[in-house]
Amino acid sequence: MDDIRRIADELLLGVRPASRGQTRVYPSSIYSAGDTRILQIWRSGERLLLAAGRGPLFEELPGTKIDGFKLAPLEGMTRRVLNRHFPQTLPAAAGRSKSGIGLGDRLGLATPGHIRAVRDRDIFPVLAQQSMRELNLTGRTYSDVLNSACFGSMREGYMLGFGADGDHLKSGEDISAALEEGFSMITLDCSEHLDPEMESMGMSELKRRYAKLPQSVRRDYEMAYAGKEFLVEGAEISFDKMELARCILLYSGVIDFAERVYHERIASSGRDIDFELSIDETTAPTSPEAHYLVAAELARRGVRLTSLAPRFYGEFQKGVEYRGDTERFGREFAVHAAVADKFGYRLSVHSGSDKFSVLPAVGELTNGRFHLKTAGTSWLEAVRLIAGKYPSLYRRVYARALESFNEARRFYRVSAEVSSLRRPDSLSDEELAAGIDDESTRQVLHISYGFILHGEPGGRPDTLGREFLAAVEGEEELYSDMLGRHIGKHLELLGK
Ligand SMILES: [Zn+2]
Repeated sequence: MDDIRRIADELLLGVRPASRGQTRVYPSSIYSAGDTRILQIWRSGERLLLAAGRGPLFEELPGTKIDGFKLAPLEGMTRRVLNRHFPQTLPAAAGRSKSGIGLGDRLGLATPGHIRAVRDRDIFPVLAQQSMRELNLTGRTYSDVLNSACFGSMREGYMLGFGADGDHLKSGEDISAALEEGFSMITLDCSEHLDPEMESMGMSELKRRYAKLPQSVRRDYEMAYAGKEFLVEGAEISFDKMELARCILLYSGVIDFAERVYHERIASSGRDIDFELSIDETTAPTSPEAHYLVAAELARRGVRLTSLAPRFYGEFQKGVEYRGDTERFGREFAVHAAVADKFGYRLSVHSGSDKFSVLPAVGELTNGRFHLKTAGTSWLEAVRLIAGKYPSLYRRVYARALESFNEARRFYRVSAEVSSLRRPDSLSDEELAAGIDDESTRQVLHISYGFILHGEPGGRPDTLGREFLAAVEGEEELYSDMLGRHIGKHLELLGK
């Protein structure tokens, strides 16, 4: 405790505290409120908040008082006290005009690196972004995710605000749970209300299904859209009868669902929430007409979207480059951007990490007003760190990824084939580490995080998982620098 006492004394005196013995200090994490000063420390494997002084902040923090200072665990209770005294640490909505980047963090260690990437750039960071799938596979909770974002950004000395995205949520209950925890953005996943069969359905079957819809539904849509032309910047959108029927069959369920969720859960929440609609889980790209219909209809029903994610032309697979004709992507993306512009929200690009060949078009065609989501790439940078620094650990990590690939791919759409994967036994450490840039290897590592960290997804980290986490944590400076550069490269290409 003597170490801590000395650090607490320095903190109170306003001297920049130095690390001592087993205790590492983070000088950028010093803040004051009234007569209390706080600082984050790392001590024998544990992260703590050291508070010194007196006053309301000091009293409210959990932990035991020891002559003039207190050690609080970096947990939800501590975060909520900090949120009250430093409102900038509460997740906030971005609104419709700022550009945003979603930065998923599966380890709870990436936030400082994410801050290095966004600091000094014109971009709003959504530091917490997790889907139910990711929560289940990592065994984390929404509270854990917010803890990492809040403490991680404070540790880096960042106080300019950030968002928290309950990503790809499908039910009203999950949305309410995320909002209650303090999330500031909801991405509504409408895949359960989309019937992908409609995309390729033949005319006669389409007609038959359409005739079965209630007459009032058909009449409302037909009056508003059939035979009409709608202008968006640089394009004209019109619906012939069959195209309209197909759009209605595909999207009327989505529209009704989004309308209900918005009025029941979002608009009534009493605070600003970014509401994103995701219709990207289809097999065919979203047509400009379908995008227009969804946008216009939701606007007519009083739903205020902050962003919308269509399915774009080409393949956006996790963790690897864009696949497809980039010129055609640009042409179609421009029309989607014009529709989004007309209705005032931002276009959202999911699985945006490592799509370096299309990022400049995303930045330019939206006039720099977009939302881009990345998630697994921060995890892959941690794997890259391990591959470079701890080859024997990486060998075991890679072996487990291979073993679990068939099970892991049930949760994700990837194209890697087991037969194309590198076999660890015949490769040197250097060759194995270099594989992290091979697309199939990246995909395998990308989707198997739950298995690598926990053996079985969802439980507590097992031996390999703990070793992995401790190794990344031990190299936190390096990890933050790698992430700062890697995410920074995305932002550079986006023109930010
Ligand atoms: Zn998505």
